[in-house]
Amino acid sequence: MSDPLPRTDRPTRAETEEAIRTLLRWAGEDPTREGLHDTPARVARAYEEFFQGYEIDPKTLLERTFSEVDGYDEIVLLRDIRFESHCEHHLAPIIGRAHVAYLPRKRVVGISKLARVVDAYARRMQIQERLTAQIANTINDVLQPHGTAVIIESSHECMTTRGVHRPGVSMVTSQMLGTFRTNSDTRRELMAMLNRPAASEY
Ligand SMILES: [Zn+2]
Repeated sequence: MSDPLPRTDRPTRAETEEAIRTLLRWAGEDPTREGLHDTPARVARAYEEFFQGYEIDPKTLLERTFSEVDGYDEIVLLRDIRFESHCEHHLAPIIGRAHVAYLPRKRVVGISKLARVVDAYARRMQIQERLTAQIANTINDVLQPHGTAVIIESSHECMTTRGVHRPGVSMVTSQMLGTFRTNSDTRRELMAMLNRPAASEY
């Protein structure tokens, strides 16, 4: 994906709010009525929050690593990372969970950083396939582990609230790199870890 636009190439806040007034009129509304008066400003602020990811370079989140791991070289898995994203086709929410695993090569990263990498890519306009690949490729490029695996399950509001109207459908994607791709035993071990009860259920 191309890099985000520099701030200077973006429309002004006033232009953005005017565009939202146009959308309100397109929906059949009167943007001057009282209840909608502050809506363009609120939507502009919501967009800043939804699409914060463009302000973050995910690679920098993984720069700090720890090497005192006493030889730990088995799977590290962070699962059930809830995320919110938006589909680039309809700007509708994608709500889901990501499971991120890697096989460390001498060094590990703070686990909260893995969740922040998920957020940095989720808070952009996305399709799930690319979101999955971007998270996996970034972890793989920066940490250079023996393997990286990312599995994402999500619900796409563009499918549940419009179009084919199919609530309850979830989409699952996975990207396996390195040992997770080449070694079926490692992949099976990961799947067994994913199927264990969550710590909160202990
Ligand atoms: Zn969509």
